[in-house]
Amino acid sequence: MKKLAIASMVSMALLMACEKEKAQDTAPAAKDPVAKEVVKPAETAAAEKSEANIEGNPFFEKWDTPFGMPPFDQIKNEHYGPAFEYAIKKAKEEIELVANNPEEPTFVNTIEALEYNGKDLTKVANVFFNLTSANTNPELQAISREIGPKLSALGDDVNLNPQLFARVKAVYEQKDKLGLRPDQMKLLEDRYKGFVRGGAELDDEQKARLRELNKKITELTIKFGDNVLAENNNWEMVLDKEEQLAGLPQNVIDAAAETAKKRGHEGKWVFTTHRPSKNPFLIYSTNRDLREKIYKGYTHRGDNDNANDNKKVAAKIAALRSQKAQLLGYKTHADFVLESRVAKNAENVYNLLNQIWPAAIKQAKNEVAAMQKMIDEEGGGFKFRASDWRHYAEKIRKAKYDLDESVTKPYFSLEDTLKGVFYIANKLYGMNFKERFDLPKYHEDVRTFEVTDPNGELIGIYLTDHFVRDGKRGGAWMNSYRKQFVDENGKFRKPIIVNVLNYPRPVGDEPTLLTFDQASTLFHEFGHAAHGFLSNGVYPSQTGTSVPRDFVEFPSQVHENWMTEPEVLAQFAKHYKTGEVIPQELVEKIQAASKFNQGFATTEYMAATLLDLAWHTIEDGEIRDADEFEAKVLKDYGLIDEIAPRYRTTYFSHIFSGGYSAGYYSYIWSDIFGADAYQAFRENGIFDEKTAKAFVDNILSKGGTEDPLALYKKFRGKEADPKYLLKSRGLID
Ligand SMILES: [Zn+2]
Repeated sequence: MKKLAIASMVSMALLMACEKEKAQDTAPAAKDPVAKEVVKPAETAAAEKSEANIEGNPFFEKWDTPFGMPPFDQIKNEHYGPAFEYAIKKAKEEIELVANNPEEPTFVNTIEALEYNGKDLTKVANVFFNLTSANTNPELQAISREIGPKLSALGDDVNLNPQLFARVKAVYEQKDKLGLRPDQMKLLEDRYKGFVRGGAELDDEQKARLRELNKKITELTIKFGDNVLAENNNWEMVLDKEEQLAGLPQNVIDAAAETAKKRGHEGKWVFTTHRPSKNPFLIYSTNRDLREKIYKGYTHRGDNDNANDNKKVAAKIAALRSQKAQLLGYKTHADFVLESRVAKNAENVYNLLNQIWPAAIKQAKNEVAAMQKMIDEEGGGFKFRASDWRHYAEKIRKAKYDLDESVTKPYFSLEDTLKGVFYIANKLYGMNFKERFDLPKYHEDVRTFEVTDPNGELIGIYLTDHFVRDGKRGGAWMNSYRKQFVDENGKFRKPIIVNVLNYPRPVGDEPTLLTFDQASTLFHEFGHAAHGFLSNGVYPSQTGTSVPRDFVEFPSQVHENWMTEPEVLAQFAKHYKTGEVIPQELVEKIQAASKFNQGFATTEYMAATLLDLAWHTIEDGEIRDADEFEAKVLKDYGLIDEIAPRYRTTYFSHIFSGGYSAGYYSYIWSDIFGADAYQAFRENGIFDEKTAKAFVDNILSKGGTEDPLALYKKFRGKEADPKYLLKSRGLID
């Protein structure tokens, strides 16, 4: 969904994440609007600065740094609060100037003026929200809590300003006579739609109703999240006999003892429903009853008829969203959401899911049969059930693929893997990377690279922040300190982009060695970075990774493919001690293993997707019985008892307290584009110049300036075909 630049500041912190295969996986949404400078006499400006307590605040001094990098060494925690206060005040004034402009509304004085609003705020927010993810501390967290509602209110100042809407509407109504470029037309349409979707066309009574619905929905989504958190934290399985630990590796036992100590059960072992605790238990424990116990604990979070029960909360949220959609003129909440996504409507999403579901469920049934066979051969004498899945999948994986991480990791040192990333960036896009040691950085872990094109022209600055540490949240993502855009004076601004990951630090002389998946993540995140670097648009809200959620993972997904090509592996996947290139048979083993258990993975993901869509295609605004509703949806689709949706209703935070309502399908949707796009390279040559150029020209450089589907067809000459995704997961031959 495109929001107004300033309104999106708030969501920026939430949207920055870009984690592979993970829940919160979305692309960065940092905006970079620039306001027209208001020229003031020197003494007035100084007095204002003093009054606003921003004298000497680096956010309001000229950044005399190479490439206009933020002067991290000068920015202190105490600078953010006053900087935000002042920048928000200025942004408000600028909005008023646009709204009350005595001149007739035009594209430039209204739409473009809004786009370039809040220059200072962008400057502060870009640094702040990058750091609250990558390098936070309690002070920054406190500022974040304080500033969130203020940014939210600023968003309302735009969206609910009737004068502003009147001007936007006036421009919109003459859009066909204005001679606009396609990107300008899209900007105008998106702005206008943004207002309408926010309720600008409603009468006063309806507006009041909308505000009431928004308020209730917000309250309930917060409650939902709190309930999940409480359920997660409250549930524990305390073990006090050593035989209950049968099968568990020592590090898992140690962690459980540590948890027990923290929770006042010293001398015992505690397991919780948190994944790092639950998953190893399900995989390794040989105690079937205890596996069932922790599995039930996990799958019944929010479904225990206690104070933290989420059944009614979820059902109410879905009902209220349905009512809100209808108030705004949509049949369902899904229609409201999907209108601004590539998918356009729920029918298109269902059509796509229906092409994948049968193959996934068929494969899942094969997997169950294989595990039952193993149980029978072992003389287990019981019927396989859902809580057995991870345990037997691991046993089969070991027996069939016999793949030990310690054998593969030496071939993927972090340093060499990064070289592999740079190699493909050079072969595909002609990018060159030169490390700089003189640029400001926010932490000593950060490395900075100057990225240039084949003519030596600067493309942008690439920051890497690879190591796990306190103050960095989990996962991997890309974000920008500055997006590519063209400012109001026509100057092309070059991007400053960061990839943040959570790799282990090198120990002693040993470099950081990556698992195959971790190495793949580096290529994935660089795909997002390439989307940012090769961007060639004008308006900041449209450039780089500012594309719909169901499209944004596509460029990153594609990039994972190059890593496994023998030609690329030969360049970088070398044993860190001997320099020997990874043997091809080992690569084949890794790839075969990666297709293992995909029936399960795809089915559990898709079951959650179907649940999400079902809740958000309710048309009557009625409150449902959550358990009954969920059971019926999954039964109708023929989900097998041995698999639960990746998220059941009562702990499906993405859709009931995150931003993924009617959007959980986005991951697989992007994957389909990714697999199909790579097929073009397979057909034409993995570094085929023409294909790479078409990819840049139609996808990577375009950002959100045109309809993504139309762009995709220009690149590929046809629509994406889901069969390449099914193949890549081994679901069809
Ligand atoms: Zn991603």
